[in-house]
Amino acid sequence: MASVDVIIQSIRETGRNAAGRPQEACSPALAKAPWEFDGVLQYGPGSSMGDVIPTGSPMQGALPEEYRTAPVDELHERIRAAKATLGDRVVILGHFYQRDEIVQHADFLGDSFQLANAAQTVPNAEAIVFCGVHFMAETADVLAREGQAVILPNLAAGCSMADMADIDSVEACWAQLEALYGTEPDADGRVPIVPVTYMNSSAALKAFCGRHGGIVCTSSNAETVLEWAFERGQRVLFFPDQHLGRNTAKKMGVELSRMPMWNPRKPLGGSSGDELLDAKVVLWHGFCSVHKRFTVEQVEQARAEHPGVRVIVHPECPMPVVDAADESGSTDYIRRAIEAATEPTTFAIGTEINMVNRLAEQHPEHTIFCLDPVVCPCSTMYRIHPGYLAWVLEELVAGRVVNRIEVPESEKADARIALERMLAAKPKPAGV
Ligand code: SF4
Repeated sequence: MASVDVIIQSIRETGRNAAGRPQEACSPALAKAPWEFDGVLQYGPGSSMGDVIPTGSPMQGALPEEYRTAPVDELHERIRAAKATLGDRVVILGHFYQRDEIVQHADFLGDSFQLANAAQTVPNAEAIVFCGVHFMAETADVLAREGQAVILPNLAAGCSMADMADIDSVEACWAQLEALYGTEPDADGRVPIVPVTYMNSSAALKAFCGRHGGIVCTSSNAETVLEWAFERGQRVLFFPDQHLGRNTAKKMGVELSRMPMWNPRKPLGGSSGDELLDAKVVLWHGFCSVHKRFTVEQVEQARAEHPGVRVIVHPECPMPVVDAADESGSTDYIRRAIEAATEPTTFAIGTEINMVNRLAEQHPEHTIFCLDPVVCPCSTMYRIHPGYLAWVLEELVAGRVVNRIEVPESEKADARIALERMLAAKPKPAGV
């Protein structure tokens, strides 16, 4: 199967995908080179109208011309040569949602937490080149050994969901909730509220959780982490992804009426004092613009066109989509579910298109397609192109570290506490 980039270029030229079938991309500007957006504060083509980039976000400076004009085959050659020169002084991490043209150079492929852990298996590497987005590079820096440099090839590769909860808004929210709930534990020793942040958040928020008795979760362990939090608190403040919070708490039996929203732009988050007092989970008003694209109608269409189809979606999808699907789970869950299928199966998958198309390529014994018929990769992941990877690697060969992501020391220790709590949280034994 052609890469997503090749499909997007084909759509631009012919209105058809690389297999010759009519298809659309969510933005014609996706076919442009990512460096056309360098120096501009925006997430890039394909981001949704709801994604508002914060003014202090990192911005990529101009990529040197030689990397903008080099043919892609030459860039691949240069990347391979730089990697060979650097040897085990460098490790390249590639997220599942990266374009194939990047993934082919990765030493490790995985989700954000798998990759942060993978980096720890190469303690001799002086540089960790993280082909993912900003919060992932931060997490790698929190977990890295002293002196290791974490590099993000394109600084504009942020995450619009992570940016929806900034530390000032979360601290303002926390002050209001503490004023409402107080700080005294109940008779069972449970504090009024425990903060839980999704991995997809800044290091500042992970540190906030570390300081306030809170914890980090991933989409693989959200249920275990919420159990951990409910053992210690009467309720949870969950940020930034409302959908992961709602889908997970609902699965655990929390009523929807006890999951009020917190919109940081509204007084008391837009919920009433009574709603907040009755809350089990206060949900931050954040979302992933990639997973928000999936709809119940797409699920119904997949079922109509492919009788017997197995629909698996990511829990960042809205609740009605998760309810309409057969299963929901993290990227790793989706990957393992497909690998475990012993009979040829048709899968309709609700997650980022680079990963879905790669799974389809790797599993020709199955029919695998993305629920969303429109090609719309994660706009920020897509900002990383072989040109940027070649640039950061050749700079390393020349003894220069560019695009380093460094979490302030003042945040590192607290962020590590929240991550370590997550690692220590164990699922309850079955039947308990
Ligand atoms: S897919 Fe969504 S959550 Fe993941 S990096 Fe992109 S915007 Fe962020």
